[in-house]
Amino acid sequence: MPAPFSYAPRLAGVPVLWNIMKIDIVSVFPEYFEVLNLSLLGKAQEKGLVEVTAHNLRDWTHDVHHSVDDTPVGGGAGMVMKPEVWSECLDELLHLEPTTVTYDSTVTCDSTADADDTASADTAESAESATEIAANADTVPATDRPVLIFPNPSAPLFTQQDATELSHANHLLFGCGRYEGYDARIPQYYRAQGVDVREYSIGDYVLNGGEVAVSVMLEAITRLLPGFMGNAASIVEESYTGENALLEHRQYTKPADWRGIKVPDVLLSATTRRSTVSAAMRRWRRPTSCVRTSSRRWIVPSLTRPIAKR
Ligand code: SAM
Repeated sequence: MPAPFSYAPRLAGVPVLWNIMKIDIVSVFPEYFEVLNLSLLGKAQEKGLVEVTAHNLRDWTHDVHHSVDDTPVGGGAGMVMKPEVWSECLDELLHLEPTTVTYDSTVTCDSTADADDTASADTAESAESATEIAANADTVPATDRPVLIFPNPSAPLFTQQDATELSHANHLLFGCGRYEGYDARIPQYYRAQGVDVREYSIGDYVLNGGEVAVSVMLEAITRLLPGFMGNAASIVEESYTGENALLEHRQYTKPADWRGIKVPDVLLSATTRRSTVSAAMRRWRRPTSCVRTSSRRWIVPSLTRPIAKR
């Protein structure tokens, strides 16, 4: 069946035609994803911007216990998710026939990891910077190639740049690991099949399962979809976005004096209409963002670049 289409405003407010983003999630706890029906993501589903389906991995098992895990080869604590169950599930969702790949068994464990890293490095290299992608948001086409994503604490960190890139995909398929994780051959096999496979960590700590990590990535990706946010400007003026991907400046609301702490004078004097940002406010925000970014994240190359006066 051909993918359904929707009309909705782009970031720039110009009507555009795009595909609904199809999201499949595979987990042994699919109920976990009922939270995705809440809030803005729930509304996005109602509006037809995204279609989220959570699948139970155990539906692809054939034994009475519906087991998805087995003991680790070579010993060690815990259990590892079996490749056979995952492949039956992923073949079906990706419409692939089972096959046997040619694999060099002399490749050591370490060099396999290196090969995986090389694959991710290639992807990163081919990807435009977050700034470029944001600037080209109206021209970057949605890709029909499905992207298979496995959360993994030992993978490269998931960033705003990844979220931006993935927001252009038409079909995302997430596989949630549990126990000691999934058999390492699963991503290898699907890469060899030509599938765009990504493994991402959401931070340098270990969770019990991939469900939280998938929710985090999904929220970061889907909020970038045109029509998702009520005010499209909200995703332009944000941390990790726009020129130099700076961290956002401090935010204040009323009252001007709260429990003895005052809003900076420059902001009070610069207050204009709600939707406009005055030149004075821009002059305050930019250095504030630069200082915050260089002290908390990275050195900002254009820290001293002058800000154009209006
Ligand atoms: N044995 C693994 C290790 O030490 O790296 C940890 C496995 S963890 C208990 C089980 C699953 O949770 C992983 O397969 C992954 O899907 C998910 N997970 C845990 N921490 C994560 C993180 N920081 N980022 C992304 N996924 C994570």
